[in-house]
Amino acid sequence: MEMKDKLLQLREKAGLTQEELARRLHLTRQAVSRWETGETQPGIETLKLISKEFSVSINTLLGSPKTLVCQCCGMPLTEDDLISAEPDGTLNEDYCKWCYREGAFAYQSMQQLIDACVPIMTGQHPELTEEQARSMMEAQLPRLKHWQV
Ligand SMILES: [Zn+2]
Repeated sequence: MEMKDKLLQLREKAGLTQEELARRLHLTRQAVSRWETGETQPGIETLKLISKEFSVSINTLLGSPKTLVCQCCGMPLTEDDLISAEPDGTLNEDYCKWCYREGAFAYQSMQQLIDACVPIMTGQHPELTEEQARSMMEAQLPRLKHWQV
């Protein structure tokens, strides 16, 4: 979906007029109207505000150019409601909401994360043995940003 259609859809879904959305973002109604006709696009700072206002990732606003993956556990972030948020409500597109919450990471070590995830993985994929699930995670996790410190 193009950005202009996405912006229009979000605004209508929230039941806001162009005027009301503009006021929340401290912009003019004309600015909102120009996005929706595709004449202009919001800049990155405005995108951050829109993202926070609607709890929608910037990736989604841009038409989902990237497949987001949690950089801690490796889970694909296919829906915006899986994405973590900062304490002020800004989405943090690097992590899922289970790994990063209220500004803190849930797992202190890779081992702790693996121990927590293996039962979930074998529950979702009964064809996997615990050992297979564990070795899949051991192979994947070191490639993720969070563990490359
Ligand atoms: Zn995660």
